[in-house]
Amino acid sequence: MFRKKETDVIVAGAGPVGLFTAMALAERGIGVEILDTEWRTAGRSYALALHASALDLLDEMGLAEELIPAGHRVDTVAFYRGRERLGELRLGELERKYPFVLVLPQNRLEHALEEGLKRRKVKVHWNHRLAHIRPAGDLVDTRVDRLVRDSSGYALAETGWLVDRSFEHHTQMVIGADGHRSLVRQQLGIDFEKVGEPTLFAVFEFTIAGEAQHEVRVVLDEDATSVLWPLRDGRCRWSFQLPGAVEDEIPRIKSRFSVQIGSQPYPFVREENLEQFISQRAPWFAGKAEKIRWSLAVQFENRLAARFGQGRTWLVGDATHVTGPVGVQSMNVGMAEARELAELATDVVQQRAAPAALEEYGARWRGEWRDLLGLGRRLEARAEAPEWTRAAVDGLVPLVPAHGRDLEALLEQVGLGY
Ligand SMILES: Cc1cc2nc3c(=O)[nH]c(=O)nc-3n(C[C@H](O)[C@H](O)[C@H](O)COP(=O)(O)OP(=O)(O)OC[C@H]3O[C@@H](n4cnc5c(N)ncnc54)[C@H](O)[C@@H]3O)c2cc1C
Repeated sequence: MFRKKETDVIVAGAGPVGLFTAMALAERGIGVEILDTEWRTAGRSYALALHASALDLLDEMGLAEELIPAGHRVDTVAFYRGRERLGELRLGELERKYPFVLVLPQNRLEHALEEGLKRRKVKVHWNHRLAHIRPAGDLVDTRVDRLVRDSSGYALAETGWLVDRSFEHHTQMVIGADGHRSLVRQQLGIDFEKVGEPTLFAVFEFTIAGEAQHEVRVVLDEDATSVLWPLRDGRCRWSFQLPGAVEDEIPRIKSRFSVQIGSQPYPFVREENLEQFISQRAPWFAGKAEKIRWSLAVQFENRLAARFGQGRTWLVGDATHVTGPVGVQSMNVGMAEARELAELATDVVQQRAAPAALEEYGARWRGEWRDLLGLGRRLEARAEAPEWTRAAVDGLVPLVPAHGRDLEALLEQVGLGY
């Protein structure tokens, strides 16, 4: 049943952040095995945009020029309250090679990364689950299960899948890019602390007549945020936060159908809710929904891992942090973490650094996330800040599609700073 293998690094999880991590390792000449419990996550298309900083990272891998024509460019982020346009952030002023946000389906990004890995002779092992990790001196011992629908293997209670073969890998490092329910994080015994209330959003993706705008529009109501993203091919996505008793809201808006994403079902939101939300929250929205492609209700937690790893096992992406969807920060910041983690892991594998060097990675990114989640440095309104940014100051950071120096530069445009 067991086959023994040796490899430099195992990456558990082939979502966007895991694929990016594996690419960054392969580019540095590191032997990498990447595996995912599911069969091609590319059926999902949820984190819809790449920040200007993420485009720089993809450019380093030679992927930006291929992806930009496949996406839709966004140049401004506008803020509204009712009918009133409050102000805007100008992405064009960012000091970046590509000073804009690129709207691109997550599955298109994942496809490009998977193809990039193929070119570097790295094959994604779909339907392979990292099942167990155990530190063993200068190595980590792991067990990987290959999953099938029907065989004589033993059943995984929670999924209905069967394990038909297990492999033992001895590896120098394990990277858990295995999402918010991370098994790697759980096996390390790291807490995923709740740092804020969960938010529930009703999301509608639909086609509209007319040209797509090059602007994201965020509506700031007293107790809820809504966001309109323009997409390619005459489509757009509205996400409406449903305030109040989060769990109680779902039965009121869902129909008896659900939308399946990977192994997870999501409640399907009734189409008639769309018009109602638009008339209440965005009376200025002129687009008429021609065809609703899908709609669902999804809850976003606010959580942060107490540590980002230890020894030779480290975490990246949603395995360490989850936040609301408006600023698309989870995936984009995850890619920046991945690049740094890959660089440090390379030093460890090539024996230029001890695993302790990774402590700095964990501390720095945890600090960055504390700021993004409103637990660290407090944003302040400067004298020139307009009234609306003063009123929104405490909740603005997660709504901006940027992090680090880009986030600070954009906030500066509306009179806010740390
Ligand atoms: C319905 C929905 C809507 C969303 N909308 C938005 C949005 O509007 N804006 C936004 O910014 N973000 C959104 N997100 C979140 C966004 O998709 C994530 O932030 C992004 O995918 C994070 O990437 P990741 O690679 O860290 O983790 P994931 O994409 O979660 O990937 C983790 C992968 O690990 C695999 N895995 C888990 N356990 C194991 C294991 N033991 N062994 C091997 N593989 C394993 C999983 O199968 C999965 O493919 C949404 C998510 C969902 C589900």
